[in-house]
Amino acid sequence: STTPLKVAVTGAAGQIGYSLLFRLASGALGDRPIQLQLLEIEPALKALEGVVMELDDCAFPLLAGVEIGADPTKIFDGVNLALLVGARPRGPGMERGDLLSANGAIFTAQGKALNEVAADDVRVGVTGNPANTNALIAMTNAPDIPQNRFSALTRLDHNRALSQLAAKTGASVNDITRMTIWGNHSATQYPDLFHAEIAGRNAAEVVNDQAWVEDYFIPTVAKRGAAIIDARGASSAASAASATCNAARDWLNGTPEGDWVSMAVVSDGSYGVPEGLISSFPVTTKDGDWSIVQGLEISEFSRGRIDASVAELADEKAAVTELGLI
Ligand code: NDP
Repeated sequence: STTPLKVAVTGAAGQIGYSLLFRLASGALGDRPIQLQLLEIEPALKALEGVVMELDDCAFPLLAGVEIGADPTKIFDGVNLALLVGARPRGPGMERGDLLSANGAIFTAQGKALNEVAADDVRVGVTGNPANTNALIAMTNAPDIPQNRFSALTRLDHNRALSQLAAKTGASVNDITRMTIWGNHSATQYPDLFHAEIAGRNAAEVVNDQAWVEDYFIPTVAKRGAAIIDARGASSAASAASATCNAARDWLNGTPEGDWVSMAVVSDGSYGVPEGLISSFPVTTKDGDWSIVQGLEISEFSRGRIDASVAELADEKAAVTELGLI
């Protein structure tokens, strides 16, 4: 179709935005033209104007137009895809409750605005942290949008897991399928390679090293963000932007036959994850809808890891419920 896909990006003048916008405009979602609708807080609008000047200067053939502003009910008008990247970072002396309420205010307002003005087919991907709980808040505040239109990003964790497994085994990332991230996009997440395959062979059998899985693979994937901040002196913005594109593209266009991806989506109770939590699962996508892969056998080891991350999500949900945000 040649009607542009209307894509909203929040926090568009931030670090992730600075990578993300150029990927989107150069065709990361496919060869359909896109219209960018960029939301920022007032003090960041001037910087965002500069980013738009650079977008102009790229003369991207697929970029049909750009609109910027600070009012979500204007910026989200008619959007087909909303990528919620902007979030309040934890400042000095900020308690967890302060962080949750600052973000709660943002995602409550954005959920309401999406509910009011987004296109009927809108899909909402949350990258801003705490991503799962921010997605839960937006979803709860958008009662007219089907709940399966909301997801939080665990694709970066998924990609990190692919890369670590490839490095360990000498395989190409192209040969690895069926990787799974379970739970929260946080240090408690569980990267699960027990169902993954390398060129059709079970990955855990190829690796054949449980100590590596427990003591290296899982913590390396879960703490990769901190390692990058250590090395680079700044957070992992380009890879987060790349994963945001991967997640959106696969959601809209479908996953390849025989493979799946990780997405944090609202639980229907699958794998013992309480209904209504936004938790990462293995999912396949088709025609813009996801479904949780069913019937995987969960070992005792995996069960413990999944339960721990899901308990953290339940805890975050209880905290935002107490704050009256959902
Ligand atoms: P970034 O663009 O680096 O990050 C944005 C969000 O993405 C943060 O919540 C960050 O979490 C999260 N994130 C998720 N995965 C990753 C990852 N792998 N690596 C790094 N970050 C990740 O932040 P900036 O501060 O540069 O930019 C944020 C922008 O958002 C600012 O321009 C600000 O003005 C804007 N903003 C907009 C709002 C709005 O539109 N209403 C509200 C609040 C802010 P974490 O903090 O855990 O790193």
